[in-house]
Amino acid sequence: MQLTNRSKQVADTKMTWMERIYLPGIIKGMIITFSHIFKKKPTIQYPEVQRPIAPVYRGQHVLKRDDAGAERCTACGLCAVACPAEAITMVAEERKQGEEKLYREEKFAATYEINMLRCIFCGLCEEACPKEAIFLTDRIVPTTYLREDYIYGKDRLVEKMDHRVDVSKRQTNNLADFKNNSSKAHNKTI
Ligand code: SF4
Ligand code: SF4
Repeated sequence: MQLTNRSKQVADTKMTWMERIYLPGIIKGMIITFSHIFKKKPTIQYPEVQRPIAPVYRGQHVLKRDDAGAERCTACGLCAVACPAEAITMVAEERKQGEEKLYREEKFAATYEINMLRCIFCGLCEEACPKEAIFLTDRIVPTTYLREDYIYGKDRLVEKMDHRVDVSKRQTNNLADFKNNSSKAHNKTI
């Protein structure tokens, strides 16, 4: 019984003598192979040679310090809430007396971790941050064999003062204007 009319008659014609000796097919294949010898090689010798990446590429995160060297992050948790991959976790603590130079605000992240295996580098944490603290850079997260090596803590996220990262190219004009606006509360120190 025929249920649909989509069935096709499969061709069952006999191969010709030329097809049976396979020679034309082999010659055709060799021509294609040799033609590639003279073409520009698409292989990049990574990591010695690296492809240019787009100015808006989103790579490894940094937690930025302010100009005086204090950590900007106030552990508000907005980045974690905005993260669609649930890649960010943190533990907040209250700043003690004498720690004003270390932490910009009264509350800070004692622990801050990003799971780079979960992260999809969408940049929503950067957009959500009201303190201009977290940014994605043009750095590629290096591969490793151990899962725990992909959990980036503050030791790898907090930007060292002698290694500032220029993230201006990473931002859209609107975001850069908003974040650089000194009249906005997010740029004021408490
Ligand atoms: S870039 Fe996206 S996925 Fe990665 S931590 Fe930020 S919000 Fe989460
Ligand atoms: S990085 Fe920004 S959004 Fe995330 S906890 Fe710190 S201050 Fe809040």
